[in-house]
Amino acid sequence: MNASIDHNFDPVALRQKYRLERDKRLRADHNEQYQEAKGDFSHYLDDPYVAPGFEREPLRDVMDVVIIGGGFGGLLAGARLRQAGVERIRIIDKAGDFGGTWYWNRYPGAQCDVESYIYLPLLEETGFIPREKYTRAPEILAHCRAIGEKFDLYRDACLQTEITAITWDDASQQWVIETQRGDHMRARYVIMSNGPLNRPKLPGIPGIARFRGHTFHTSRWDYGYTGGSSAGGLTGLADKRVGIIGTGATAVQCIPYLGQHAQQLYVFQRTPSSVDVRNNRDTDPVWAGSLPTGWQKRRMENFNVLVEGGYQEEDLVADGWTDIIRNVMLGLGEDAFAGTSQAELASAIELADFAKMNQVRARVDSIVADPATAQALKPWYRQFCKRPCFSDEYLPTFNRPNVRLVDTNGRGVDEITERGVIVDGEEYEVDCLIFATGFEVGTGYTRRSGFDVVGRRGTRLSGKWAEDVRTLHGVMSHDFPNCFFMGLTQGTLTVNFPHMLDEQAQHITHIVGAAQARQARAVEPTAASEAAWCETVRASQSGASKFLADCTPGYYNNEGVPEKGHGLYANQYAAGPVAFFDVLRSWRSQGEFAGLTFL
Ligand code: NDP
Repeated sequence: MNASIDHNFDPVALRQKYRLERDKRLRADHNEQYQEAKGDFSHYLDDPYVAPGFEREPLRDVMDVVIIGGGFGGLLAGARLRQAGVERIRIIDKAGDFGGTWYWNRYPGAQCDVESYIYLPLLEETGFIPREKYTRAPEILAHCRAIGEKFDLYRDACLQTEITAITWDDASQQWVIETQRGDHMRARYVIMSNGPLNRPKLPGIPGIARFRGHTFHTSRWDYGYTGGSSAGGLTGLADKRVGIIGTGATAVQCIPYLGQHAQQLYVFQRTPSSVDVRNNRDTDPVWAGSLPTGWQKRRMENFNVLVEGGYQEEDLVADGWTDIIRNVMLGLGEDAFAGTSQAELASAIELADFAKMNQVRARVDSIVADPATAQALKPWYRQFCKRPCFSDEYLPTFNRPNVRLVDTNGRGVDEITERGVIVDGEEYEVDCLIFATGFEVGTGYTRRSGFDVVGRRGTRLSGKWAEDVRTLHGVMSHDFPNCFFMGLTQGTLTVNFPHMLDEQAQHITHIVGAAQARQARAVEPTAASEAAWCETVRASQSGASKFLADCTPGYYNNEGVPEKGHGLYANQYAAGPVAFFDVLRSWRSQGEFAGLTFL
């Protein structure tokens, strides 16, 4: 069917190997294996990037819109609302500045994994072109600040401010927002853009509280201890034995820097990442100068269609994300693709995936000198079972004499002691233990946001969404008038997450504009329209959960139980972003605001 794919492998044997590797990682405690960062562990959440002692007077004012979260989602909502002429917009964030995930994640080597020309939002609006194809964290953070300046979002912002309660007041048809700073402000609309990966998590390894050395989570990097910056120079580690637990996308980026500077580095691995070629390059100024108006949207759409398996005449981004699909498409061509059944396409994609992962595994052998270490670093699962990683420095780090991979054969670390980490009965003493163990996914929405939302008739979001998220189009929920959600609340999953955030921001802006045009004081989805969307979401999921159930555990598949609870995929419209954006756009173009009530 596809002559361009190298069939020099046994798919049956590979399927079997993948299954074995998955099975040995399946655990009965799923998400419960993790330790919440609270109580004795709450210091892991402290903000290392602000000076202590910030104070301000409590606020009692009234806004048009309050946006919770100053990351890409909040900034996009603010920008789109500002473009639509909304005057009083307040972004609230517990961080000391805008940036969201890029505020917190400043670890050495932090860099975007999706091409910066499509990942950084509002490039044309701000007149900015990133310096590199995959730009680095400081430039992304600076761009977040630039969006804040450009759209005048600092004017009313409340930073270092944590929400304690959000309550609907029926009498005034406003939201009352309370914070830990004594604020008691009001807003006509609230937008929740709290982020899907906002709460660091720790592994529930026995003895974790006993460790007496220095310790932190990668999303709160302690440069006071390590020295240096996101660009490297971690001179404080020159005489330190460092351990890092976790080998996901974050670890892949920071381990080369730890390896370069630590006296000794132990990398504790449960599951290896798939690490493909990074191939970063500087932006060509001639290319940048030649970009026509509307280029960013076109490039985003092109990528979005390709990574979902759709056909495009050209692959504008042409990187590791589009590689598999591009290989399949090149073999099939547009006409063949149009006539190909779903089953044939799925089979072609699986074969391309095997070939791709063989290439990724062969790359390990070609770079890592020690055969046992190389073997342990090979990923045995389909490429999109876990977040694919791209680095040209990670694998060579394991050739350094001061770096040792401690592979746990899928089990995870056995125990943590006062002095270090135990694996297979051997204790590895360390001065510093870094947790690259990711973020809470799969726990309840209000647990992750850190506050409850109380809507009409005292309806609590924590109660309403206890089992399932329930919305219309992922952006509004019955009994929560004038309240909008962004992110992964019955929207869809996209490789380029800011693309979806922008679609949501534009959708929300459209609804707010309609409410204002009608001089409505409140807008809310009907129970029936919400129920219909929940059914659409549920019906869309059958194919996705089969793929995920075959995957090795991780947050993508809710630690092995994709169909249960609040896992990443459980509450998403699984027909994909192309279909989802189409749903939103055609709903808007019909102009009837079907399923909404304006009061
Ligand atoms: P992940 O959740 O992806 O990785 C956590 C790591 O900790 C995994 O390797 C996991 O192993 C390991 N782990 C958990 N428990 C144990 C244990 N008991 N013993 C040993 N190891 C353990 O977190 P990350 O911070 O790496 O990445 C989170 C997400 O953030 C990414 O998936 C991506 O979406 C985003 N990201 C994006 C980047 C970008 O765009 N540039 C860069 C970095 C992150 P196991 O796999 O076995 O569960």
